[in-house]
Order: sequence, then structure tokens, then C-alpha cells
Amino acid sequence: MKLDLSGRVALVTGGSRGLGRAIALALAEAGAAVAVNYRESKAGADEVAQEIERKGGKVITWQADVTDGDQVQTMVERVSAHFEHLDILVNNAGVIRDLLLLEMEPKDWNTVLQTNVFGVYHCSRAVLKKMVMRRWGRIINLSSVAAVRGGRGQSNYAASKGAIDAFTRSLATEVGLKGITVNAIAPGLIVTDMSQGVLAFSDSLIRERVALRRLGKPAEVAPLAVFLASEEASYITGQVIHVDGGMS
Ligand code: NAD
Repeated sequence: MKLDLSGRVALVTGGSRGLGRAIALALAEAGAAVAVNYRESKAGADEVAQEIERKGGKVITWQADVTDGDQVQTMVERVSAHFEHLDILVNNAGVIRDLLLLEMEPKDWNTVLQTNVFGVYHCSRAVLKKMVMRRWGRIINLSSVAAVRGGRGQSNYAASKGAIDAFTRSLATEVGLKGITVNAIAPGLIVTDMSQGVLAFSDSLIRERVALRRLGKPAEVAPLAVFLASEEASYITGQVIHVDGGMS
């Protein structure tokens, strides 16, 4: 079975590197036109766009900070105008600020919640109107195993991802009748810029808790996003699917 997303338009937030980059490339490979959102790294987004174009795909890049509702609204309007519609949203943009709670200042808490939770709220709300009109849509949120496992120094991050899981289940029940599915992908330890800080002390975790005994690669997460975005996933919604190498 080859998943075919041709004719679909996807927006990937934080798509200039890491998991967002891999997901943007995989969606394009499956035939979707892709809008690569970035906050700071224009060079990274341009590189992703060039790679998509090299393979004959359709792509634009768009700078916007997902914590800013007005910027998100403009991005969604411009992307939908450019490609004429918007069918798939991948809420990938996310940050960590790992600190023990007693050392965690309000700004460390706020940055994580603003990006990981408010960002998802702004983007989902902005695209929903477009999706409802076409009675088809896919919203795919990047959660984390931290949502259910927690993590030392990750009370802000784990809380934000727990919120994403709850958001995913709730929104799915609101929009199912409109032909829109909402799911989340919860990666385990995947090699990206974000995970660099924890990789140094992840050896014992991998040995003792990861069935596959190794870290994951972004390209091992991206295919699930393609599947969830496809017609073939039409009866899957409100789910949080773990891609963690079998973490116990
Ligand atoms: P990353 O740090 O490499 O990439 C995150 C991207 O989000 C970056 O491009 C960053 O610029 C962008 N971003 C951050 N704040 C933004 C904002 N306000 N507006 C727009 N873009 C913004 O991280 P990653 O590992 O690729 O993570 C991607 C997603 O997957 C995140 O939501 C993360 O929480 C989740 N995740 C990652 C792992 C992992 O092990 N790498 C595990 C579980 C979940």
C-alpha cells in the first residue's frame, strides 16, 4: 500500500529541523504540498524547501511564532491562499526548559506552556475553520512519552505534553462529525537538537527501558505522520500513538 497525499496541503510548524523537518519531507514525498513554518531559522526552512523542490514537490516557507495568535492567523490565511486550501496541520513546534521545579522561574514555565500548548491552540483554531468548510482535515500533534511517564526536571514539559494528549482526545470529539481527525504522536528518545541535553545520560535508560536498545531517528517517526494524514487512517481519531522503541 503506497500512501498518497497528492492534492493535500500540509502545514508543519517548526519544520526547519529535527522531527518537523523529517515530517515535512515525508509528507512532500507522499505528494502533499507543504508549508514549512519556522520561527528563526530561515536557512533551515529554505534547505528543507530546496530538498522538497528538488524532488518535484510543492512547498513554501513561512516565518511565524506559534505563540502569537495574530502571526498564526496570518500564516494560515496566506498558506491557504497560496495553495487554495489547507488540509493537514502538524503541530510540531515545541521547546524544553528542563529544571527542577524549585529552580524553575515563571519564565521557564511560561515559555514551555506558551509554545507547546498555546501554540497548538492557536494553530488548531486557525486551521479548523478551513477544514470545517471542506469537511475534511487532519490535525497531528507532537506529544511525548513524558506526558505519561513524567521526567525529572520536566514538570513544565511533561505538563505541556499531558495537555496535548487531553486536547487531542477532546478536540477529536468536537470535530469528528466534520470529517476531521485529531491524533497525537508521542515519540520516545529521538536524536534531534532538542534531545542533545538528555542523550549524555540516556545510556542506562536505553539499556534498561527501551526494547530496541537504541535511540530513534526522525525518519522513524515521520511515516506515522504520513499515515495519520492519509485517507487510510480515516477511522483513527483521538489517539496518542507512541513511537518509542518499546519503552517500559
Ligand atoms: P527541535 O528543537 O529540533 O525542533 C523544534 C522546532 O520547533 C525548532 O525548529 C524550533 O525553532 C521550533 N519552534 C520552537 N518554538 C517555536 C515557536 N514559538 N514558533 C515556531 N516554531 C518554534 O525539536 P524536535 O526534537 O524536532 O521536536 C519536535 C517536536 O517533537 C516537539 O514538539 C517535541 O516536544 C517533540 N518530541 C521530541 C522528542 C525527541 O526526543 N526529540 C521526544 C518527544 C517529543
